[in-house]
Amino acid sequence: MTVSHMVVVDLESGEVVEGRLAPSSNLLTHLALYQAFPQIGGVVHTHSRFATAFAQAGRGILPLGTTHADYFYGEIPCTRELTPAEISGAYEIEMGAVIVERFTDLDPKSIPGALVHGHGPFTWGRDATGAVQNAAALEEIACMATLTLSLAPDTPPIGDALLARHYLRKHGPRSYYGQT
Ligand SMILES: [Zn+2]
Repeated sequence: MTVSHMVVVDLESGEVVEGRLAPSSNLLTHLALYQAFPQIGGVVHTHSRFATAFAQAGRGILPLGTTHADYFYGEIPCTRELTPAEISGAYEIEMGAVIVERFTDLDPKSIPGALVHGHGPFTWGRDATGAVQNAAALEEIACMATLTLSLAPDTPPIGDALLARHYLRKHGPRSYYGQT
């Protein structure tokens, strides 16, 4: 893929502004997320193996360790199943809508991703790079969670103190993680 393959679309209407190719088939899902979560600047959708396995199982990923807590401040949620009417209707828009619905009581900034039931992960970030980093982190977290749950199916999530310590040292006003 090169720059010439990029397609620029209007954020409100989804109409192509620049580029010769058709935009992603999931364009309307991405637009629904940009419109509902105005603070985000990038959305990534993959069918990465371990994250998709959780989506197929209809299961969110609980924070089982500090790798999770470094990126996601709590469970990475799974949406409900889409209804037959939603699937046969405006499918891509409805896919965005079930993610937004799942975040009714969640903060998309501190939990920058979700699993769409039976489909796969969507992540987002401050910009495109952040969204890609969160997609890679989600896949690694999902892999670790799969291994952990295979060793000990009843593994509980880490406690709030450890979750907060790891999340907040990398994010938020008092973050200090790293060397710069
Ligand atoms: Zn997909």
